[in-house]
Order: sequence, then C-alpha cells, then structure tokens
Amino acid sequence: MTMDEISETINRSKIPDIIVDLLGSLSAIKELSELNSQSGNEKELIFKALSVLIQNQDMERCSFFILDKENYLVNLTGLSIKEHLGGDKAAQSSLKFKIGEGIIGLAAKTGTLQHCNDCNQDPRFSNHISQTNALLPGSIISVPVMAANELLGVLNISHPEANYFSEWHIRLLLIYKNMMGELITNYRLLQQMEEQIAVRTKKLEAALEDINQLKEHFESMSMLDELTGLYNRRYFYVQIESILARTKRHGQSVCILVFDLDHFKKINDAYGHGLGDIVLKDVSNSVREEIRESDILVRFGGEEFVIIFTDTDSDMGQAFAERIRTKIASLSWQAKGDEIHITASIGVHCVIADTLSQDDIDIDSLIGFADHALYTAKASGRNKTVLFKETDLNK
Ligand code: GH3
Ligand code: MG
Ligand code: MG
Repeated sequence: MTMDEISETINRSKIPDIIVDLLGSLSAIKELSELNSQSGNEKELIFKALSVLIQNQDMERCSFFILDKENYLVNLTGLSIKEHLGGDKAAQSSLKFKIGEGIIGLAAKTGTLQHCNDCNQDPRFSNHISQTNALLPGSIISVPVMAANELLGVLNISHPEANYFSEWHIRLLLIYKNMMGELITNYRLLQQMEEQIAVRTKKLEAALEDINQLKEHFESMSMLDELTGLYNRRYFYVQIESILARTKRHGQSVCILVFDLDHFKKINDAYGHGLGDIVLKDVSNSVREEIRESDILVRFGGEEFVIIFTDTDSDMGQAFAERIRTKIASLSWQAKGDEIHITASIGVHCVIADTLSQDDIDIDSLIGFADHALYTAKASGRNKTVLFKETDLNK
C-alpha cells in the first residue's frame, strides 16, 4: 500500500496519525527490500530507493550524496514530491561537499544522523548557505549510509517547514539507511563479480584460442616430417583421394615418382647418423626447389620420397625425374676429409587422363607400379630413372 492509498483509507476511516506513520514506514521498508540490485546502474538504483521513500513518507525533497574517489560528497540524485507526482524534473544540482562541510559533510564525518530543525538558525548550515545561495529548507535530516565501516554517501530528506520531522522520521531513516547501505553494497559486489566473470571469460576465451592454435599446430606437425619439414606419409594419404578426384574431374594426367637414396646406410655407417640426417635435409631442400607449387613432395619413410604431379605426360614425367636425379647427384658434403656424394634411384608411373576416368584406379596400385619401376632401377645398377610399363609386370 502506498502513502497515497493509505491517506485515502484514513480519510474514510479516521485511523490515528501514529498508525498512518507506522504504515507509511513499513511500506517504505517493504518496497525498499523488494528493489532488485541487479537492475540498471547504481544511480538508477538509488533513485528508485529515494522514490520509494518519498512515496511513503511526508517530505518535500530527498537526495543522495555519494562519496567520490576524491573524497567529496557529490549530489548523485534526488527528487522532490512535485517531481514524484509528475511535475517537471528539477535540474540536477552540482552541489558537492568536503567531509565535515555543512550538515551533509558533518553527517559523513561523525557517522551519525544530523537533524536540523530550523535551517535558518542552525550554525551547521552556514557553509551550505554561502555555497548554494539556494532557497533553504525549513527542516533537514542527513544520515550517513555505510557499508560495514566504510562510508558510501549521505541520504537527506527535507521539508520547507521548520520543526517538521518527528521521531518517526528519524527512526525510519535509521532503518532505511542500513537497508540502502546493504542495497548499494550488494549492487557493487554484483558488479565486481560480473567484472571478474568478464575478465575470466576473456582469459578463458584467450586460453581456448591458444588451445585451438596449438591443436592446429600439432595437427600440422603430425602431417609434417620433423627432420626435413616435408609432408609425411599421413598427409599423403589424406590428400591423395582429393588429388585424384580433381585430376579426374579436369581430365588431367597424374604422375607418381618414387625415389630412394642409394646405399644410404653406408653414409650412416661411415660418417655417423648426424651426417646422414644432414644429407636427408639437403636432399629434401634441393628437390623442393625443383617442384611446382601444385606438386606434392612427401618423405615417405627413411630415405624414400614420393612426388605427385599432375598435368604431365610420361615423357615430361621422366624428364622431370631425371632432373631430380641429376640434382641429387650434384650435391656433395665434406666429412672425415672425404668428399661425399649420393645418388638416387627413381621409379615413375604416369597415368594418362583416359585411364583416370576409370574408377578402379587406386592409390596403392599407383604407388605399387612406381615402386616396381624403382625396384627395376635399383636392380639395374642404381642412380637411374625407370618409367613403369605394363609389360614390366610380367618380368
Ligand atoms: P639401397 O640402395 O638398397 O636403398 O640401400 P640403402 O642403404 O639406402 O637402404 P637400406 O634400406 O639398407 O638402408 C636405409 C638406411 O636409412 C637405414 C636407416 O638407418 C637409414 N635411415 C632411415 N631413416 C633415417 C634418418 O632419419 N636419419 C638417418 N641418418 N638415417 C636414416
Ligand atoms: Mg636406399
Ligand atoms: Mg629405402
């Protein structure tokens, strides 16, 4: 029940004033306890608390001065009964007080309620008068609003008549300021929690981003050969299906080239595994220089490599293999006073576009045929390129 509704009931039933005061106070407390500290900003919340107060208590004006970071009490919000009843809103005053200054500053400094019965006569008001030049109220009560021992601000109520406020008002305000203190504290705690949650959410999002990047990194790592940086066998099998599908779609030829270093074990045995690694890296880098962007070079395992290239006929495929073979043979290393060279044997298998249109071509047989040619190259003296021919299968 609001104060207006209570007044109307009184007119009808002649309820004693003390009961009316009591009902008004209880209504104010009940409504304040129902304010939701989750809604709006702090100023809106305090304004709502003041509206509840003015709606249920007989006063002309109420306001809240908040303690700012510079330790000033600054007029945050306020309203008069006229504004509450729908009149024009008065411009917000920019009044501010130091702690101890005027009745508001005194309430803040002493931490106790200050009741001024007659503002025109009260010495506590002298600073106030000189600062504002505003029309003075007759009576004013200023009460500090605290969170535990910390000052939040000062709640003020005023009336144009002197000696207006009674013991009731004082008692109500003492309860009301405690509840406002809790309301503001809860609001600030909620804000802090939300800020912390936002910060943590951001940190979590950043961590998630890092995890995703790491995941991508590891995924790409697991597709790359650690020693040479070339793609590995796993990548080859992931890619090959789509490469074959694309070549079929575009009616292109595809060549598979398999090469294996000759007598590589001897290098390891004679000069150590470390030099063997350097040879593998250098061979990889020099072959990489020879391929086109669309070609795929893979370290298939050990000292065996595979290249897939498209849109090339058998002659061109063989010429390309020869270029690779010559390049590898031209490399040299120094160790233990020796100049070291290495050669490679190469098997090439090219499938022309017509054959590719047949769905029964599978990668294992393509590799198998290229391997077969490689075997022939090894068997016929190494450091050779051999192009696979169907007739070789019968040999
Ligand atoms: P072939 O001409 O018949 O191919 O003779 P090969 O000695 O090259 O072949 P074999 O299969 O007998 O030996 C291959 C060697 O490659 C044995 C293995 O230790 C070596 N190897 C495989 N992977 C690596 C590697 O990552 N680093 C080094 N240093 N050696 C490797
Ligand atoms: Mg070998
Ligand atoms: Mg080998």
